[in-house]
Amino acid sequence: MIRSALVPTQPLQSLPSLLALGDVRQRAGGPAPAGTDPVGGLAARLSLDPLVTLRALRLVRAPMHAQKDAPRTLRQLVQNLGSAATWRLFDVQPVAPAGTETLRHLWHHTVARACAAELVAQEAGVLDPEEAYFQALFHDLDDWLHHLGRHQTGVSAAWSGVDLVRQWGLGVESFVRFDAEPWIGDDPIVAVREQPGRLPAIATALATAAGFPHPDRPAPALEAQRQAAHDYAALVDETVRERFAHFGVPLEFEAESLAEFPMPAGAAAATSLDPELVSRLLACRTALSIQGLETVSVAAAVRYLDYDRAFILGWSPELRRVWVRSKADLTRLKLHRHPVRPTERETEILAKAHQTRKPGFLVRGGASEGLCDHLGTDRALIVPLDHERESPRFLVLDRVYSTRPLGPDQDLIGVPELGGFMALLFDNLGLRLRQRRAERAATLDALTGLANRGVGIFSLEREIASAKRRGAPLCAMMLDLDDFKQLNDRLGHLVGDQALRIAASVLRRTLRSSDTVCRYGGEEFLAILPQTSTDEATILATRLFTEVADAGSQAQLPLTVSIGLSSLRPGDSLDSLIARADHALYVSKSRGRNRFSVDTE
Ligand code: GH3
Ligand code: MG
Ligand code: MG
Repeated sequence: MIRSALVPTQPLQSLPSLLALGDVRQRAGGPAPAGTDPVGGLAARLSLDPLVTLRALRLVRAPMHAQKDAPRTLRQLVQNLGSAATWRLFDVQPVAPAGTETLRHLWHHTVARACAAELVAQEAGVLDPEEAYFQALFHDLDDWLHHLGRHQTGVSAAWSGVDLVRQWGLGVESFVRFDAEPWIGDDPIVAVREQPGRLPAIATALATAAGFPHPDRPAPALEAQRQAAHDYAALVDETVRERFAHFGVPLEFEAESLAEFPMPAGAAAATSLDPELVSRLLACRTALSIQGLETVSVAAAVRYLDYDRAFILGWSPELRRVWVRSKADLTRLKLHRHPVRPTERETEILAKAHQTRKPGFLVRGGASEGLCDHLGTDRALIVPLDHERESPRFLVLDRVYSTRPLGPDQDLIGVPELGGFMALLFDNLGLRLRQRRAERAATLDALTGLANRGVGIFSLEREIASAKRRGAPLCAMMLDLDDFKQLNDRLGHLVGDQALRIAASVLRRTLRSSDTVCRYGGEEFLAILPQTSTDEATILATRLFTEVADAGSQAQLPLTVSIGLSSLRPGDSLDSLIARADHALYVSKSRGRNRFSVDTE
């Protein structure tokens, strides 16, 4: 079942790049010469390859990227997708050259038309010449699909170029077969200036006159056209030859020799997990962020496994939505994190993978919907990562750049292990995060973020014992906000809460890190000051009540605090030390509040 579904579903799969033609690849397949401008170099390479251009545009326009502006030139296309990803689009399996004569004639015609369109646009000044070139590359898309389909399966494909670019949301429908009225023998430049819509027809005529006719429509140019086109046709011919020669691609080929060209062997599938991948992932077992772990995982999947792109996908079966959480795809294109609705078929495959804990294959249906469409891919491997969560995650892998097939034979080795391994890391991280949250909840006061009363009492006991052992000074300080009931009554509880947080933050920033401060009760705080004499604590208390009042007036709140201070005496217990601080606090309150007192008994 799966196997038959993985047969290439669109003709571009059979010849993903013209530079993949076995004999051409030998000359043009190498990297760009060192020291050249990478964007310009890649744009020049794309200019010879309408098929890669189409695939590059599909990737840039994939809905997951939320690109607002469509590229209008090859340079913009490379800039959008990035050099690394564009380069990878050429890194495809070589294609046996037999039976490709018609494709080659169509290739020459397409490039010649684009050169002619660029030239005429330049001379006539009606359209940016680079835009004219870009648009012209899509003109023969119907013929490309027709011949690629025939080349692949022996029958012509039932694909129309307009349907394909519409389904992919490329926005270039108007460039496909944009045949305006034919050009009849006036000066081509004057004709285009008068009627810019004639540019495609004129470009076709010039390409034909230059000796690069369309293989199916080799209509000879009219005599009048031939004369008018003569000078331009020579220029077109020269430009086309230069472009091909730049990459060492010969324009001439002998039909018989094509069949005999030996094909390089394909790459072997990985059979086990790379130990480096394992150690890279193991290094994340102490990571404390889910996002961080996801990023490392997708990067490692692309780097160490034989995939072009990797994603972490979230799935909510209840909402029937999926969304891409993280990606590694060699591009800097921004990720659109909005949820999308998977197709029925995709939902079934996600559910099955989740249930069986085994990888599955997603295959794009025809319509512009679903997950594959969102990712701009025809097929993807999904690996379940969470078995317990309500919104389980998946690792999604594809090979959109190299277009090498995904299938049970090569992709179900190593990948389930990776999925299991990543699932363990995610489980482990989830556990540690929950544990950390529980610890915090048990020790911290939720409103102010200070230690809670239990932690405060525990530290005071410990500090008393330690001070007694070392004969060191220790002070305890009780703080109580003044007339807080009134503040609540007048301004409401939410403002009261805000006042509590302000007081807490003053305490936090004024005390030393070796001191402990806790929320002792409603609007009462206890501060424990080890290694602190009564004199030092007095200075601190003065600072505290002044700063609380200052912070209050900055927030336009009537916020003051009364403080009671006690210092450790021989024979003191926890209770007696706190009782004396409480008593001192009572003295501060009775003397009018917003002040501090020291136990004197
Ligand atoms: P005094 O100056 O004598 O301390 O007067 P007071 O009004 O501050 O003292 P009292 O003990 O009568 O009132 C304390 C008030 O603190 C009562 C209670 O509503 C308020 N309170 C306690 N905890 C919270 C809290 O978490 N949020 C808010 N907004 N108010 C709180
Ligand atoms: Mg109180
Ligand atoms: Mg109070």
